[in-house]
Amino acid sequence: MSDPVTHLLHHPYQPPAGFAAPQPGVFKASTVIFPNVAAMRARDWKHKHGYTYGLHGTPTTFLLEERIAALEGGAQCVLVPSGLAAVANVDLALLKTGDEVLIPANAYGPSKALAEGELANWGITHQLYDPMDPADLAARLGPRTRLVWLEAPGSVTMEFPPLAQLAHACRQRGVTTALDNTWGAGLAFNGFDLATPGSGADIVVQALTKYPSGGGDVLMGSIVTRDEALHLQLKLTHMRLGWGVGANDAEAVLRSLPSIALRYQAHDRAARVLARWLQARPEVARVLHPALEGSPGHEHWRALCTDPGQGGGGRAAGLFSVVFHERYRMAQVDAFCDRLRLFKLGYSWGGPVSLVVPYDMPGMRRHWPHRGTLVRFSVGLEAAADLQADLAQALDALAKT
Ligand SMILES: *Cc1c(COP(=O)(O)O)cnc(C)c1O
Repeated sequence: MSDPVTHLLHHPYQPPAGFAAPQPGVFKASTVIFPNVAAMRARDWKHKHGYTYGLHGTPTTFLLEERIAALEGGAQCVLVPSGLAAVANVDLALLKTGDEVLIPANAYGPSKALAEGELANWGITHQLYDPMDPADLAARLGPRTRLVWLEAPGSVTMEFPPLAQLAHACRQRGVTTALDNTWGAGLAFNGFDLATPGSGADIVVQALTKYPSGGGDVLMGSIVTRDEALHLQLKLTHMRLGWGVGANDAEAVLRSLPSIALRYQAHDRAARVLARWLQARPEVARVLHPALEGSPGHEHWRALCTDPGQGGGGRAAGLFSVVFHERYRMAQVDAFCDRLRLFKLGYSWGGPVSLVVPYDMPGMRRHWPHRGTLVRFSVGLEAAADLQADLAQALDALAKT
């Protein structure tokens, strides 16, 4: 080894083992080096016994998978590059030509778009069901139904479904259920244990992009299961699709996870203050927030997200929607959004900065009962009083138009 470049590449120094610090290290790899050919031939990408290739896991991603599985109350986890990739990975692992998937009518939009696009192209049909009506779901469950998506609440309409009843209807028919638990974040309720232990979804996915990241700067998704065979089915599809996540992104989520419960509570507290305050404003026809009495599915939220006997206010995320009085045209409501200073215009949620998005509801939810324009707010970590003052100045200007 006379050449200095070769020497650099094969330098013998190894730092001492046993380094301990609050934050785990970041391990980056495409290539994983095997000690010998026998180890290479005996490689096992399915379990966390060892390492085979960067796509199949590193110490950093294994660590995050185990922590997310624990957060959701599950046993296994697969990480994917976005929340939408988690939805797609589940669809592709479980569905084949001739199958049908049922999706809530108020579901995350791109999940419906995937069903209307690629799934339809591959001969997989879908139906939208009314998430607030278990009888509607039961009537749509057919011999070709292989998968039912659940989501609580719809992240724009904020309707909180009778989740345990929906899951029960599927379980009775032996149909696999997958819950998009991005709103609950593994904190508001346990997606696997709804009415009773084990009565919940078979698969729980989350956009880690939202609360687990908490920074508005990472895209990642998780797919959590309790059943080893189902996990391996999802992981096999994951391997074939080549969906890896970057170690630096995994590290960013690992760094944010210890504060997730505190952040979730802070987002929740401020969102409820603002939602209640908005209820009293004359410009507003309706505030949709599952923790507010009279909001669609409030009783389902109460049953799932409050602890009996504790008398507390329950758990909710920092999201709510407002339906403006129908006397305001869409352009006036757009101007209201433009006038906000602390609430920024942008998609996604769960980060420190408050966000606002106006939606065009007729395209998003069949039989939508409200006529006024809907605006969805994601409350960040700013002081609630400052956010309220921001809303007040934009509402006062709206009232004058
Ligand atoms: C944001 C979101 C997703 C998708 O997450 P991305 O990481 O942005 O792809 C899926 N479901 C829900 C409910 C979401 O809010």
